[in-house]
Amino acid sequence: MSAEHELEVLNPATEEVVATVPAADAADVDRAVARAAVAQRSWAAAAPADRARLLRRFADVVDTHIEELAQLEVREAGHLLGNARWEAGNARDLLLYAAGGAERLLGRQIPVPGGWNVTFQEPLGVVGVIAPWNFPMPIAAWGSFPALAAGNAVVLKPAETTPLTALRLAELALEAGLPEGLFHVLPGYGHIAGRALVDHPDVAKLVFTGSTRTGREVMERCARLVKPVTLELGGKSPNIVFADADLKSAIDPFSFLDNSGQDCCARTRILVQESVYDEVRDLLADALSTVVVGDPADEKTQMGPLISRQQLDRVRSFVPEDAPALRGSAPDGPGFWYAPTVLTGERHDSAAAREEIFGPVAVLLPFTDEQDAIRLANDTPYGLAGSLWTRDLGRALRVSQAVRAGNLSVNSHSAVRYWTPFGGFKQSGVGRELGPDALAAFTETKNVFISTEGSAQ
Ligand code: NAD
Repeated sequence: MSAEHELEVLNPATEEVVATVPAADAADVDRAVARAAVAQRSWAAAAPADRARLLRRFADVVDTHIEELAQLEVREAGHLLGNARWEAGNARDLLLYAAGGAERLLGRQIPVPGGWNVTFQEPLGVVGVIAPWNFPMPIAAWGSFPALAAGNAVVLKPAETTPLTALRLAELALEAGLPEGLFHVLPGYGHIAGRALVDHPDVAKLVFTGSTRTGREVMERCARLVKPVTLELGGKSPNIVFADADLKSAIDPFSFLDNSGQDCCARTRILVQESVYDEVRDLLADALSTVVVGDPADEKTQMGPLISRQQLDRVRSFVPEDAPALRGSAPDGPGFWYAPTVLTGERHDSAAAREEIFGPVAVLLPFTDEQDAIRLANDTPYGLAGSLWTRDLGRALRVSQAVRAGNLSVNSHSAVRYWTPFGGFKQSGVGRELGPDALAAFTETKNVFISTEGSAQ
């Protein structure tokens, strides 16, 4: 088979081949979309309670496979075992949450003269979901499960490097009794299978999570068909630390080291009020020196490898050997290892301070006062997430209103919750996933007026 026809999945901690998976081409996408379209018609016609029951059964089946899914994620993505268990649990919990929504897709009755006016939330049809490699299970779930609950079929293309948990989820869906073809996972290359899904005229909506560069292309191609999109793209999120904050909690290194920094919400710009800059730098130096980097399957490990050689090269390209930095340690030998790093000599307009590195690297930058902190926090094309730390309530409110980002935490580095909305401002994305309105994003609103002005018998 040629390289275009298969995907080699490597264990990022050992560089060993874990699996080889066929790569879909445009004809495979055509077939999957045609089957999904057939399955969607009866799925949409089923009673919402029946759809909900099947999705709950799917959640139960996922629940009995949490350990297997987690182990698979450790092998294909190098995730820490504890994190991977949480991720599989997140997929299960979202299924349960979305199932509840199937019976609550309410329309409205709007008073009008001469009749009744009602609205309906109708499913779109076949939804295409394209996922990245950094959180293969949760992101596949966030795009797919609310769409299914709203009465759609889904064709999901996972990332080239991480197709295995998504494929397993599709098998578990069948085991739970979801109709054949309704939730179809199609591994493949972005420029072949991804593009074919984006361009397919029978894919009614595209949900894309990945880089801003690819997201822009996806949006342009969808525009030709006037196809709606949800885009979850890159980030360069600030962690704003005022002098009055609980500094130790504020500079928790896992705010940018979780998942080896391959997290779109990673707080990689540590903005610190200048009066506590030295203290914060010393605290960070101590914290980095104790981070345990190594085998992700070992429960004592705190940070695993990067996903691939390509990602390792990218991260290295931002950090010259002699750059002033605080550094932790990382293993030598096979595997894609990079030590936790905080760059201390950057200007806020340097490449490392502006671009999404997507590795365990943050920049430490001083600010003078509240206005300066807001200016620096907003001086980015991104707007996905951010944290701010202060004991001054008024300041917390002012700054959280002034920072242009979709997901902010005050005195916390809170993670994404499936029951609250998630998404980005500016070039971090379009639309929102998760939260109470997640299903609505997979529906069209239909307005029907019923005249009451007939001739009385
Ligand atoms: P990527 O853009 O390279 O790839 C993402 C997906 O798009 C993959 O499945 C890939 O195969 C596919 N793809 C590539 N080219 C395509 C094309 N021309 N047409 C259609 N599909 C194509 O991104 P990545 O490197 O896999 O993921 C990392 C990026 O994802 C980071 O920028 C990160 O911030 C972002 N991300 C964002 C969120 C969020 O919710 N905002 C979450 C996770 C990751």
